[in-house]
Amino acid sequence: MKSNISIIGAGIGGLTMALFLKQKGFNVHIYESAEAIKPIGAGIVMANNAMQIYKQLGIHKKIEAAGNRISKMYITNVHFQELAAFELIDFEQKNNVHNIAIHRADLQHILTEEFGYENIHLSKRLSHITLNNNVQLTFTDGSIEACDYLIGADGLRSTVRNIIFGNCVLRNAHQPCWRGVCNYNVPIEKQHGAIEIWDKGKRFGYVKINEQQVYWYALINEKDVHDLEPNLVDYFQSFGTEVLNIIDTTDKNQIYKSDIIDLKPIATWHTNNICLLGDAAHATTPNLGQGACQAVEDAYVIAKLLDTGMPISEVFASYNKIRIKKAHKVVHTSWMLGKLAHLKNPIAVFFRNSFMRWTPPSINKKQLAALFTLD
Ligand SMILES: Cc1cc2nc3c(=O)[nH]c(=O)nc-3n(C[C@H](O)[C@H](O)[C@H](O)COP(=O)(O)OP(=O)(O)OC[C@H]3O[C@@H](n4cnc5c(N)ncnc54)[C@H](O)[C@@H]3O)c2cc1C
Repeated sequence: MKSNISIIGAGIGGLTMALFLKQKGFNVHIYESAEAIKPIGAGIVMANNAMQIYKQLGIHKKIEAAGNRISKMYITNVHFQELAAFELIDFEQKNNVHNIAIHRADLQHILTEEFGYENIHLSKRLSHITLNNNVQLTFTDGSIEACDYLIGADGLRSTVRNIIFGNCVLRNAHQPCWRGVCNYNVPIEKQHGAIEIWDKGKRFGYVKINEQQVYWYALINEKDVHDLEPNLVDYFQSFGTEVLNIIDTTDKNQIYKSDIIDLKPIATWHTNNICLLGDAAHATTPNLGQGACQAVEDAYVIAKLLDTGMPISEVFASYNKIRIKKAHKVVHTSWMLGKLAHLKNPIAVFFRNSFMRWTPPSINKKQLAALFTLD
């Protein structure tokens, strides 16, 4: 008989893992602390690596249909002069999938529908784990469940990680981030692009996520934010009318602020019959747009290892070994990129911008190739 596997957390990582396990005939249960699966009103870009995996799961067309194809990512200054451009068409042709920008709620809906609701248990916040012959899970409502194996996909502040490995170090980038979604007509030449505009100590990104909507995000150096609820339009005056229109068009009650926090890399993501996945194992800052994509890659590698027939505890150990290099490279690179993006000193900004402009496209392409090649 196939093992009984529980997953803590119905985020993108937990749901993707659950889809693979279901396809392989495991008895899978997801326990989620929230009352409903209702991600915040924001978008997300699922890059080529994640979309290759969703193709293997047979759901890439549904994600494409609900989202918007992105064929170019670019960073500009406030005059819309390109500092760096990342062309995606070659990767689209090679892997036969696109980078897709999509509303988080739409992606989560597709994943949940595909898995089915019967084995997703809501309002179940894990509080304790007891290890006997199996894994016993205790929830804050007092209920207890047991499983053979446990996957902690419970995000940045993972309870599973805290119980198994103690408190790890979370690092605040001190770049508060505001996100929103609004109805906006993106000019035709930008409809399949993800744009990020950099000014001194702040940046603004936006991308079309479906026929009507644009998803945007804005980050400012924390020490430059003087009000508890800043009027973003005041901070982004130098970014031009398009950015100001996008902010203005957004319902103020639907703008969400978050701190940008990652997990200082940890070497071990597993014990005998428990492992961590996604942000719980290697939360990153969002500067490469890879956090969720890396969670999807985790699920894919675990699934591939299960096919070899090796014992599941060995699957967890091999998964840790295979994935750690790329996942941590994303964490490091993203952290550094965030620092570079928020330089304020005009001389440093001049040198950074010149360096970015002179970087040959072949180097950017090589970096993308490394990101989009699956472990
Ligand atoms: C501003 C911003 C922009 C981003 N943009 C992108 C992007 O464009 N592309 C990309 O790939 N990534 C992006 N990311 C990163 C991405 O959002 C995360 O990496 C991804 O959501 C992690 O998925 P996860 O399933 O590991 O964890 P989460 O999405 O955090 O899911 C964890 C789940 O576990 C539940 N949970 C927590 N504790 C418990 C408990 N004790 N018991 C039960 N359930 C629990 C939570 O309620 C949650 O549903 C961005 C992040 C930010 C902050």
